[in-house]
Amino acid sequence: MKKMAVILLSMMLLLCGCGGKGDTPTTAAETTAAETTAAETTAAEPAGDGTYKPGTYTASAQGNNGPVELSVTFSEDAITEITIGEHAETQGLSDPAFEKIPAAIVQYQSLGVDTISGATYTSNAILDAVADCVAQAGGDAEALRAVAVEGGEDTEGAVLADSEVDVLVIGGGGAGLSAALSASQGGASVILVEKLSALGGNTFRCGGAFNTADPERQKDIQMTEALSSAVEKVLAHEDVSEDHAKLKAEVQKQWDEYKASGSTALFDTPEWHALQSIDAGDYEGNVELVRTLTSNTLDTLNWLTDNGVEWTDQVSTVVGALWNRSHQTPNNSGADIIAALEQNTTASGVEIYLDTKAEELIVEDGRVAGAVITNSAGDKVTVKAGKGVIMATGGFSANVEMRVKYNKQWEDIGESLATNNSPGATGDGIVMGEAVGANLVGMGWIQLMPLNGVSGGGISGYVNSSLYCNKEGKRFVAEDQRRDVLAAAVLAQTDKLFYIVCDQKEAELRGLTPEVLSYMVDNGLLYSGETIAELAENMGVPADALEQTVKEFNEAVKADKPDEFGRTTWENTIETGPFYAPSFSPAVHHTMGGLEINGNAEVINTDGEVIPGFYAAGEVTGGIHGTNRVGGNAVPDALCFGKIAGANAAKN
Ligand code: ADP
Repeated sequence: MKKMAVILLSMMLLLCGCGGKGDTPTTAAETTAAETTAAETTAAEPAGDGTYKPGTYTASAQGNNGPVELSVTFSEDAITEITIGEHAETQGLSDPAFEKIPAAIVQYQSLGVDTISGATYTSNAILDAVADCVAQAGGDAEALRAVAVEGGEDTEGAVLADSEVDVLVIGGGGAGLSAALSASQGGASVILVEKLSALGGNTFRCGGAFNTADPERQKDIQMTEALSSAVEKVLAHEDVSEDHAKLKAEVQKQWDEYKASGSTALFDTPEWHALQSIDAGDYEGNVELVRTLTSNTLDTLNWLTDNGVEWTDQVSTVVGALWNRSHQTPNNSGADIIAALEQNTTASGVEIYLDTKAEELIVEDGRVAGAVITNSAGDKVTVKAGKGVIMATGGFSANVEMRVKYNKQWEDIGESLATNNSPGATGDGIVMGEAVGANLVGMGWIQLMPLNGVSGGGISGYVNSSLYCNKEGKRFVAEDQRRDVLAAAVLAQTDKLFYIVCDQKEAELRGLTPEVLSYMVDNGLLYSGETIAELAENMGVPADALEQTVKEFNEAVKADKPDEFGRTTWENTIETGPFYAPSFSPAVHHTMGGLEINGNAEVINTDGEVIPGFYAAGEVTGGIHGTNRVGGNAVPDALCFGKIAGANAAKN
């Protein structure tokens, strides 16, 4: 079950985020912390109307990724034990909920215990399933919800006190952890604070796709006519700045040399990666920063490998990535990256404080010298950082007010659109940075992720061998397009909804076993059919239209040329049944704007000067992705600039 659940979840989540969340669910056997025995309980008075019918009852409720099963044992007058059963919640992110909520319910004989920030859906699933069991046992769940929990706040774990340190890192996602590790490896003492109960941020939730030119892993990928035309098109763009012209000339030279060499392998270089990213961001990105990024991606990938992150040998094209350079972890999961970074930062002596929120920066003599922080006990403390403060708080997709304030791209970016981001993505670092004079850039550009799960499951966030169709069973966009183009196209479809159709071959290529697929189908996470007509019937779309769509798609794959929508990335046909189709609708996914930085990850003020002692990395920064972040560029952005920020802060 565990393996199935691991694959299932990584596939389900692959479709969201930077190519999808990828999680590692746990089983009852692994969640022993959630099990509490009668002997350990304190209170015994039931808040219900009468005694319970003693026994063990089972129920499940919807969590973040699917049903959470649990069983509850009752004595005549108390809840004595809660055992977590099967679930597909995100390991790491959901752990605090499984550890703390059942224990608190038993301790306080209450369903009024606080949910865990960052794991709200999991928390509510536990509370709802226990409420169900209470009802089955003849108790009054509503009365239990009203039982006050005194001192129910978690004060476990390290509590940050007033401190002095070399480097303070704010935020424990990909950027923060890589900054902390590299600062520590550079000899600095480091404190990292994370406001949620778990590390990882959006980096944890995403698919971990990491774009980099990588001659070794790309050597077996063939160049095609369609891909050549994509290079020619970007090279034909008029010069928009001196930096752009210089970059373009370098790529032109590489392209000419490549063609003269007679190679048939995929063309790729850090400069082509940069030029393509600049083009995809409508020339609003800072060329120097993009070049810093793409010339550091392979080194950073190798540094991550040295620090325990595993990558598969295969590269592909995650949605919106535009080129075959997306590297994957074994579980297609950012969680793999976070787990390795967490282990290494801890091992290298970085002090990590969870449930610990930075509130404001301290400036002394024009230098950012530390921060005021609310610790996990709720007290305000001060951390002084002699070498620097690194802001790594992520973006603001989960802050509707900020979205609406800054948006200049979408008609409506308010409550009507969900976000698939971590609840921690509330723009705190942008507000803190602005308060000390940081310049904000690119704030109006907000990315919608077209692949936000509606049915809940998925096969693949990789576009090579699948098609997108609408409720009418028709394709409506080039699937290998930029994310903003895809999202805009989906918003124009009936119910703002679309399906990704693929076949058994693609499912197998993405590591899905028949067991996993039938779990997803049985739980309504995706539609399936032995034939395209049966699939269409289950999806509720016209069968003849979908059959025609698949037929035309297969012809285009074989032709391997740009099609009527301009799609250039083709791999396999869709013809080996059974066939599968999850459904999706766009969600707010990435905020391209933020604190302006230079290539050293130093924050720039509104006069264009470096703010001494102040660094930033990852989604809190702006200016790199222009109007549209390329799929699979976010993780390298966070990790490369995190590494740069940490190394530079340590040098001070
Ligand atoms: P990035 O990819 O740039 O690293 P992430 O979203 O992965 O961004 O991580 C950002 C992390 O910063 C999240 O875990 C978020 O909870 C955390 N965070 C946000 N605001 C604060 C704050 N004020 N204090 C501490 N941590 C914060």
